[in-house]
Amino acid sequence: MQIYDVIIIGTGPAGLFTGICCGGEDRKVLILEKNLSAGKKLLLSGAGQCNITHEGEIRDFFNFYGENGRFLKHALFNFTNSDLLDFFRKRGLDFISTDNGKIFPATLKASDVLDILIQECEKNKVQIKYNEAVMEVRYNESEEIFQIKTKNRKYKSKKIVIATGGKSYSTTGSTGDGYIFARSLGHTIEKPLPALTPIYIKNYPFKELSGISFENVPISLWRENKKMRTTFGDVLFTHKNISGPGILNFSRYVMPGDTIKINFVGIEDIEGFRRDFIEDIQSNGKLLVKTILREYTLPKRFIDKLLAIVGIGEETTGAHLNKKKRNKLIEMLTGFPMIVEKLGGFHLAMVTKGGVSLKEVSSKTMESNIVKGLYFVGEVLDIDGDTGGYNIQAAFSTGYVAARNIRGNLSAQKM
Ligand SMILES: Cc1cc2nc3c(=O)[nH]c(=O)nc-3n(C[C@H](O)[C@H](O)[C@H](O)COP(=O)(O)OP(=O)(O)OC[C@H]3O[C@@H](n4cnc5c(N)ncnc54)[C@H](O)[C@@H]3O)c2cc1C
Repeated sequence: MQIYDVIIIGTGPAGLFTGICCGGEDRKVLILEKNLSAGKKLLLSGAGQCNITHEGEIRDFFNFYGENGRFLKHALFNFTNSDLLDFFRKRGLDFISTDNGKIFPATLKASDVLDILIQECEKNKVQIKYNEAVMEVRYNESEEIFQIKTKNRKYKSKKIVIATGGKSYSTTGSTGDGYIFARSLGHTIEKPLPALTPIYIKNYPFKELSGISFENVPISLWRENKKMRTTFGDVLFTHKNISGPGILNFSRYVMPGDTIKINFVGIEDIEGFRRDFIEDIQSNGKLLVKTILREYTLPKRFIDKLLAIVGIGEETTGAHLNKKKRNKLIEMLTGFPMIVEKLGGFHLAMVTKGGVSLKEVSSKTMESNIVKGLYFVGEVLDIDGDTGGYNIQAAFSTGYVAARNIRGNLSAQKM
């Protein structure tokens, strides 16, 4: 049986890029993929447009991966957002960025990103075998060889890279198999949980306001009457839950039973807002409360709903708004409390929080500290980034440093 130099499991961005950076005439590199084609999740990314990375200094990226961002420091510095864009620019694909810093291919087609990755695999003599679901990975310590069993046959390799992704959107092939392989080789798995997922609210009051969104408003998380954290972000009402980038990013920290408070007026200085609002009401006694609220650039349908929730009649004027209802209205505008019923499941989550414990993997090389020659790249690791291109960037950067180490050439030039 032929012995490969490297076998990579998975053709997501992490697996393909590791392959490209490992490949070459003099190396036998093979990628095994369970699907009939490559990069199914990559094709879905950014609604098919692929938000590949984010603008800005790479040192600012670490803040966008929750508590585990520090692990990525070395990988991100060694393969930055600029390196990633250069790689594709050199191969004819240009990029555009949105106002909020998200970077997409100028063609707005995820398939253009994938096509280049596949072409580069071919160029670098990286073989890809489809319809090859890996069932088992074993390490023969005396021979220092990995044995891989797929549903069709057996393979042997000197090094193995697990690039099987997380557990979300399982129809793309990411079904959590990598966790099973990692565990069987002695690794600890931090409990996989859905992240970047919508949040379901008990007695959700905004069902009929589906489609209404609020830009960059303060969102705070409360647990047992204690404020845990506050962030700014966009919030979207859907007919079943609350979503939007601000909520998706926040979902990493949220548990059922928590309270989320949204400051719909977007003004952080609540006491200042209270003073201004009371003044507005008092000096516009003849105006309807709903008209006064329109000045705070709130959507009309939202104002109507809020007034109904607080019990303020549509025809109530500033002069007729009693103190109790006015205070309630201010509270709802600046910190509308919603009790979390549950988080969206893996079928809705864009990424998986948890995965292969970072304590047992080298942050410099992505090599296992337990089994020599075993590597983990991409989302299979206990890494989950915010929306905005941070997850795909992490897949490329971890793939790059793993491949560089595999090649045993630390001065490898940027691809
Ligand atoms: C709807 C959606 C939109 C997204 N949009 C963005 C975005 O715009 N920007 C961004 O940064 N991130 C986005 N993400 C997240 C991003 O796509 C992932 O973080 C990224 O694809 C992870 O790359 P990966 O290579 O680690 O794993 P994956 O892309 O999940 O690839 C893993 C591969 O391994 C294969 N595999 C698994 N098990 C086996 C096995 N046993 N044998 C053989 N093959 C196997 C799978 O079939 C799959 O092809 C999005 C995710 C979703 C679901």
